[in-house]
Amino acid sequence: MTVPQATKYAIIGAGIHGLSTAFHLAQMLKATGKGSGADILIVDKTAVAAGASGIACGVVRNNYFQPAMRELMAHSVDVWESDAKAYSYHPVGYMQISPECMREDVASIYEQQQAIGYESVFIDGAEASARYMKGLFDDWQAQGITSVLHEKRGGYANNKASMHGLAAKAEAEGVRILSGVEVQSFEFGSNSGAITALNTNHGRIACETVVVGVGPWVNKIWNLLELPKTITVKANGKVRSDVPMWKFWCLEEGTLGVDPTMHRTNDGRFPPVLHVDTDAPLYSDRDGKLITDKIWGIYYKPDFSFGGVQGGASPYKVEQDPDQVAVDPYGPDSPEFVVGEDFIDMWCSALAHCQKRFEGQMPLYKREENSGGLGCFTPDNFPVFDLFRENVYVIADSNHGYKMIGVGKLVAQELMGEKSALLEPFRFARFAKGELHPTSHSPFPWS
Ligand SMILES: Cc1cc2nc3c(=O)[nH]c(=O)nc-3n(C[C@H](O)[C@H](O)[C@H](O)COP(=O)(O)OP(=O)(O)OC[C@H]3O[C@@H](n4cnc5c(N)ncnc54)[C@H](O)[C@@H]3O)c2cc1C
Repeated sequence: MTVPQATKYAIIGAGIHGLSTAFHLAQMLKATGKGSGADILIVDKTAVAAGASGIACGVVRNNYFQPAMRELMAHSVDVWESDAKAYSYHPVGYMQISPECMREDVASIYEQQQAIGYESVFIDGAEASARYMKGLFDDWQAQGITSVLHEKRGGYANNKASMHGLAAKAEAEGVRILSGVEVQSFEFGSNSGAITALNTNHGRIACETVVVGVGPWVNKIWNLLELPKTITVKANGKVRSDVPMWKFWCLEEGTLGVDPTMHRTNDGRFPPVLHVDTDAPLYSDRDGKLITDKIWGIYYKPDFSFGGVQGGASPYKVEQDPDQVAVDPYGPDSPEFVVGEDFIDMWCSALAHCQKRFEGQMPLYKREENSGGLGCFTPDNFPVFDLFRENVYVIADSNHGYKMIGVGKLVAQELMGEKSALLEPFRFARFAKGELHPTSHSPFPWS
């Protein structure tokens, strides 16, 4: 492997953000006559899809309580739809099925989706919700549901296939992607704080602009960039100092090894991705014991690439100091951050709570395949897209990001000198200014 000694644009990370930025930037450079994909180098310490993008459930939805997130997601759905085949994207739609404590939040999401022209249907009330769900699945039996938001766009994509599709599009534009090249430190300019070179395990690469798309490794790169470990956050009229910039949550996902075709709608179609939150008590489908009487949530879809019905539940917070969290080995290879029996009992029982077809299926859960993985979150659990040290664009999606294929397009636009209104609400300065995103009643930190 020959590693170039210099590049105009150095992108760290071949996940959704690094690849999407590279592909779109290459197109824009060519279209404006300012360069081409040959000006862009992606380095990844492992390979394409080695991070969170390669293990993600792959759900693409608009359902966000935060207006800025919704507008950004609508833009990303346009990008998924622009080349569904290459992105291995399945536009089956998405449903948020909710209890009373979330009804008003979800109703407002629906209203605002109408305002931005994002097609969806809102079903209000317990009886109407049960009727709507039974119209789709005659074995529907979830309790405690008083509203349903049915997004007609969105759905899911196949994690690794979509990354390889995106990588092929970037390479076709002349972008170079180097695997096994790890950034170990940065070289800072003598007169300014700008980065002049990446020091890697394969030598020094001088560069003019750096894009960071390293997913759960962002804390490490942030430290190498000598950015603040703690920050000041203004929220609800209070100012908190010394708030850790990064924290980890562990995502819990898995696959029920049933024939994916067993989960179809009454009319034989593949269903939308279902996300169910409810405060109805959840009992184990294994032994009838109470699992929880607090609000809980799951999501699921039939997925041939996972070989069954795949999905997840709420993540748990990793309480360790972020510098001590072992991000490597990542995902299914981690000895620490993969799901265990509690998740299997909870998620399979929750599936059975929602639909009769899943009752008694827990023994088919794919225990032989490790699943789950770390995500790295900001203080308000929403992304930071911003320029640091004059020439380092950090794309830190706070684990929202597989669905955000469009962010790379907007970042490319900003690198070309055009500010993006859609990215503006995600600047780092919002923490100090107190311009945080509103929070919802969902049990998930990302809704
Ligand atoms: C289990 C799980 C399920 C998820 N499901 C969904 C979902 O359904 N929908 C959704 O929208 N989001 C989902 N997410 C979140 C989503 O996957 C991430 O937010 C997104 O993939 C992050 O993309 P990225 O490009 O920033 O980073 P990644 O995809 O993690 O890629 C980062 C890359 O950087 C490389 N790298 C790291 N450090 C260095 C270094 N020093 N030098 C060189 N290379 C380096 C890594 O090898 C890696 O390939 C899920 C996350 C997890 C963990």
